Amino acid sequence: MNYSHRRPAGWIRDVLIMIAALALMGAAGYAVARLVEKGRPRRAAFNLEMERALAHAVEASIRVGGEVVEEPAVSDLTVKMQERLEDGLARMSSEALEKHGMRRPADGNLPEVRVLIVDSSTVNAVAFPGNLVVLYSGLVKAMNGPEELAGVLAHEIGHCVANDARNALIREVGLSVLLGASGAGSAGELASEVIRGAVRIRYGRRAEERADEFAVSLLASSDLDPTAYSDALRALAETADDAPEWARYIDVHPPLESRITQAEKRAAGAVHGDELDVDWAAVLAALPSPLNP
Ligand SMILES: [Zn+2]
Repeated sequence: MNYSHRRPAGWIRDVLIMIAALALMGAAGYAVARLVEKGRPRRAAFNLEMERALAHAVEASIRVGGEVVEEPAVSDLTVKMQERLEDGLARMSSEALEKHGMRRPADGNLPEVRVLIVDSSTVNAVAFPGNLVVLYSGLVKAMNGPEELAGVLAHEIGHCVANDARNALIREVGLSVLLGASGAGSAGELASEVIRGAVRIRYGRRAEERADEFAVSLLASSDLDPTAYSDALRALAETADDAPEWARYIDVHPPLESRITQAEKRAAGAVHGDELDVDWAAVLAALPSPLNP
């Protein structure tokens, strides 16, 4: 008897304990969710408007540093590359952009392309979220013409479009820092930290392959010769041996030879485009040089 009386009592107690535990877990889960919401912002909070604001702050900071080359021939080159690739980006189909991971801005306007050519003997280029690309004069000099340079620019825009630049920067600098700096406050300090972080970033094999593929597509839709991209890679390969591995613009993963072959294959079927109306000799002459200051 006692046994049969205790059985339902034990069963009810177990259910009550389970309900209490579930209620506690629910409350704790809700509290944790609230904390995460408040203390650790989500990536989506760093939206396209914030990316644009950050790009403006970074550009302003680089301009204040006084290293942007603003000779007329160089400004002419950057304006023409920006306009041509912006038009090409606008002409790319939604399917092509989505394939490369591009998020459509709420207002439907694609982000503008901004290019700065900075005085540095280093062969390098750095992409920032918000379609801002910094090309070092050392890299410009390694190119055989403006179309090859536009190819490198197209590759870097590929890292912006695919959110590689954004995601790598979030990892490198931290989302909280980026969100704090995109608003008011010390935009200059934030920009300096972002620039230091962006220079260290390596995207890895998959991202490089995707940006290579995008570069050829963007050159073609910009009415530029898509073979200019494999030519640019070949020209960069010649400079690669001079620099230590950590300082090389061209990542050795994937191997450069296979990247060149892939770029050639992708460009093979495309219609050969136009040239950029730029005085390349004047650009080279206008770039500062350690030997010819
Ligand atoms: Zn890259």
